[in-house]
Amino acid sequence: GARTFLYRNMLTILTVAGVVGGTVTGIVIRATSGGHWSKRDVMYLAFPGEIFLRMLKCLIIPLLMSSVIQAIGSLDLSLSKKIAIRSILYYATTTVFAVVLGIVLVLTIRPGVGATPWSGDESERVTRHVLTQDTLLDLIRNLFPPNIVQACVSQSQTFLIEPKNVTVKNMGHEYWKFEEHYEPTTNVLGLVVFSITFGITLGKMGERAKILLNFFTALSEAMMIITSWVIWISPIGVFFLVAAKVLEIASFADLIGRLGLYFLTVMTGLFLHGFGSLSIIYFVAVRKLPFKTIIQLSQVLVTAFGTASSSATMPISIQTMDRIGVDPRVTRFVIPIGATINMDGTALYEAVAAIFIAQLKNIPLTFGKTVAVCVTATAASIGAAGIPQAGLVTMVMVLDTVGLPSEEVINIIAVDWLLDRFRTTINVMCDCLGAQLVNYLSVGELGALPEAEKINAQQP
Ligand code: ASP
Repeated sequence: GARTFLYRNMLTILTVAGVVGGTVTGIVIRATSGGHWSKRDVMYLAFPGEIFLRMLKCLIIPLLMSSVIQAIGSLDLSLSKKIAIRSILYYATTTVFAVVLGIVLVLTIRPGVGATPWSGDESERVTRHVLTQDTLLDLIRNLFPPNIVQACVSQSQTFLIEPKNVTVKNMGHEYWKFEEHYEPTTNVLGLVVFSITFGITLGKMGERAKILLNFFTALSEAMMIITSWVIWISPIGVFFLVAAKVLEIASFADLIGRLGLYFLTVMTGLFLHGFGSLSIIYFVAVRKLPFKTIIQLSQVLVTAFGTASSSATMPISIQTMDRIGVDPRVTRFVIPIGATINMDGTALYEAVAAIFIAQLKNIPLTFGKTVAVCVTATAASIGAAGIPQAGLVTMVMVLDTVGLPSEEVINIIAVDWLLDRFRTTINVMCDCLGAQLVNYLSVGELGALPEAEKINAQQP
């Protein structure tokens, strides 16, 4: 009856209430306080949310590594390969659909034509020079971390830098230098590659590696138990995160006036992709529409919206997939990797944003350039870390392909925090549907779960 429904879905209902309540609270405070909330006040308000985020983030590295190692190490190599191929095909198809949809929309709606660009401030000019190919090289560099410990705390970013204190006018470019810079973000991509390699090796070693495999299986299980505790804080966490964010917005009217049509274009794209393209792809593979699954995912989707981070949402995604009966070996492969490289929402947004800015600046788009935007937007979504507004950083590459300098992102920064939440929600939704889809396709081959992993699957 209604009571058992309420009881079973208590946490989801509370989390959704957290987002709605947080938004309303933020709006009410704004309306009644007359703008007296300082940055410090907002920071205090966000504090409980910040603690929630820190708890989730703390789980990422041990959970990600142990899950991927466990999933790959415990499967037969040929089966791992099949699952990998299915997942990669799914990631690639969905991302291409997303990018193409974004491009079609932005070329039809043309949100940037006739709008006024943001008038730049010379002091914000950057002195870093990055080309598309440099960013691609960084993407590859990050696949091969020179040091595992370092990969846990930073990523490589290389750029050509102008010398400081230029005294000689017309100083030649020979004084510029390449600088390898370590961005303080976990190199999740590198950790994933390492874990895959490690998992394959353990699988190949067989009996002798059992002890290590058991270790990682137990580690992954322990992380999931902690997740099931942290998840109970999510309603409070998202409440404060969202409320504080609403207070931070400078001016609603300004946002809507200048960027309204751009915002709508991205939102339309995300919506059509999430409920149109993804549903079609899912239907073709599974012969069922995914709407029931999407409802079962509400807890995950709301967390993605509240945290704006695929990585931080990952523990909750894994937990939910376990609950709705996806094989843990599939989940532990598809979700961590998907959260890292499969970002449809981000890919769509990157394409729309770059073309929007090109329209603002009256830069003509040839067919060739449009194709280049497709390719770089895909690469940029793969390279983007699963953290808030990472897409804005990798945008540089897409802007470069249409011939724009990186500082032009200033034109879209004002609404980026909000779009970020929606695109993260789509990113995560796509991963979860992917886990279901791959599970459906692989179910006959997987066979029974080994004893050790049954416990994992039983987590609430
Ligand atoms: N915040 C997004 C994510 O975590 C990445 C992005 O900025 O697009 O999925």
